Amino acid sequence: MRILVVEDDANLNRQLVEALQEAGYVVDKAFDGEEGHFLGDTEPYDAVILDIGLPEMDGITVLEKWRAASRVMPVLILTARDRWSDKVAGIDAGADDYVTKPFHVEEVLARIRALIRRAAGHASSEIVCGPVRLDTKSSKATVDGLTLKLTSHEYRLLSYLMHHMGEVVSRTELVEHLYDQDFDRDSNTIEVFVGRLRKKLGVDMIETVRGLGYRMQAPAK
Ligand code: CA
Repeated sequence: MRILVVEDDANLNRQLVEALQEAGYVVDKAFDGEEGHFLGDTEPYDAVILDIGLPEMDGITVLEKWRAASRVMPVLILTARDRWSDKVAGIDAGADDYVTKPFHVEEVLARIRALIRRAAGHASSEIVCGPVRLDTKSSKATVDGLTLKLTSHEYRLLSYLMHHMGEVVSRTELVEHLYDQDFDRDSNTIEVFVGRLRKKLGVDMIETVRGLGYRMQAPAK
């Protein structure tokens, strides 16, 4: 899962980026509205954290432009305390949720998890696919109750496939959602990671759809 953080306060930006990375996300960051708008307009994100008070272009304008261009990724806005009008303007502009500053980073993480889950059509924090269970709260996965030892990259791959269970996910889509913008992207490495993940899962659940990509679904009973 790939997240964009748009926040001009350098400390806060770093704090959010570090917490998100620790939680297993790949993160791109921007420090002003123009840069943030450009990234959100051109790169696919699973969720965006957007500050409202930004230099160059304010957060409300950034959000309005994305929505006008049919960019539908979930957006969590950060608003200053006692600026209730920002919340109203943000939600009207297409925000999915908001957090008021100052906040606990855990609250932002919980809201991001919920936004990503809901965008993928899952109501609970645990996603189940046959014998595989993904706990998005603890970033852990189990097969038949046994915890899988996954690298952060393997977890991201499994998490993306499980959030999109039953859908064919292309290699390009995986590359775009598993790596940040600075990464040297090579879709061949995806095959290697899928191979490793299949081995760790030990059950035949990730189907290769020739020429199209991969699909994860529960084995037929
Ligand atoms: Ca700000």
